Amino acid sequence: MARFVVAIDGGAGSGKSTTAKGVAERLGFFYLDTGAMYRAFTLKCLRSGHKTHQKTDLQMIRRLLDTTSVDLRQEDGGIKVYLDNEDVSLAIRKPEVSGFVSQVSAIPEVREWMVAKQRQIAEGKHVVCEGRDIGTVVFPDAQVKIFMKADVHVRAARRLKELGEKNMEADESEVLENIKFRDRYDSERTHSPLKKARDAVVLDTTDLTIEEEINRVKAIVEERLRT
Ligand code: C5P
Repeated sequence: MARFVVAIDGGAGSGKSTTAKGVAERLGFFYLDTGAMYRAFTLKCLRSGHKTHQKTDLQMIRRLLDTTSVDLRQEDGGIKVYLDNEDVSLAIRKPEVSGFVSQVSAIPEVREWMVAKQRQIAEGKHVVCEGRDIGTVVFPDAQVKIFMKADVHVRAARRLKELGEKNMEADESEVLENIKFRDRYDSERTHSPLKKARDAVVLDTTDLTIEEEINRVKAIVEERLRT
């Protein structure tokens, strides 16, 4: 079978990661979490003292990109995120990263770097890839495109639960505000904004369980695989 790509886009907390991971596991596809890659580079920017992305910082950002490696490795039955060969899977979920990642992700140079890397990682593999611009920019020819959405309060509750499971402290109203902020920032940026691809299937997950979300997407993929 030729390479098969499932592209899942949507706002923060819409269920993309859990669904993408579940579908990838059941179909034996590679799970490509592009948000984790943007988060890893944002962590690097923060560690290097970048708190803004003023024009004067752009040269520094370019230099940082030149000396950065971001990898996704399938380990211990899950995906681990490596920044310059350091496992940063937990560190990239911290509020400081969530609070800065949208600004870093809006920089065209960063996006170009990431898209090239994402295509390279996916080369020759069947993948379930999730993010904001997967069906529109990264894999416009994906065989299946899903656009996930959900009520913002439901999304905040899910994010809070996820952080709790990782033993990371989080404030409910901060999580809600961060989701709203990122959705707005990600949708309004000039370069590859978050938007539904013309040919994407919309999946509202507000009232769905994880199992239902996974089964819906898996059924769409299996249907497409048969044709
Ligand atoms: O998926 P996650 O919520 O972890 O993504 C974190 C941030 O990374 C998003 O809010 C967005 O700013 C950025 N992102 C992006 N394009 C992608 C994936 C993530 O701009 N394909």
